[in-house]
Amino acid sequence: MHDYPEKLTGGCLCGAVRFETTAKPFKVAYCHCSSCRKATAAPVLAIMLFYEGGVRFTRGAPKRYESSPGVFRGHCSNCGTPLSWEGMWHDKPIIETYVACLDDPQACAPDRHGFIDERLSWFDVADDLPRYSGTSPES
Ligand SMILES: [Zn+2]
Ligand SMILES: [Zn+2]
Repeated sequence: MHDYPEKLTGGCLCGAVRFETTAKPFKVAYCHCSSCRKATAAPVLAIMLFYEGGVRFTRGAPKRYESSPGVFRGHCSNCGTPLSWEGMWHDKPIIETYVACLDDPQACAPDRHGFIDERLSWFDVADDLPRYSGTSPES
């Protein structure tokens, strides 16, 4: 388990939306699911999970889009950078943001793979991290 920093800052490409974190992410993972892939136009996504309130927008706000019932994905309405995912995780409301949006993406290395069954066959990361077919277990 990594010791993730409590204070992280980040934002979109154009700078219209900025955020800071108010708590450590409780999980940092690769997500190989097809909806993350399509929502971000990337083969895999490095996501950070926070309990509700763990991410505070300090400039602007993401435009939210209900990608499935009760799930809201947010992006910058000016430049389009994907910024957030809000929904339920093991019965708790959470917000995710993305490692690649951080000012210092080196600060949060994923320690697991989720939705590995949906991984693109031509994309693999040479690591020994645990791999889960859906979301990873709660602990
Ligand atoms: Zn932007
Ligand atoms: Zn996903």
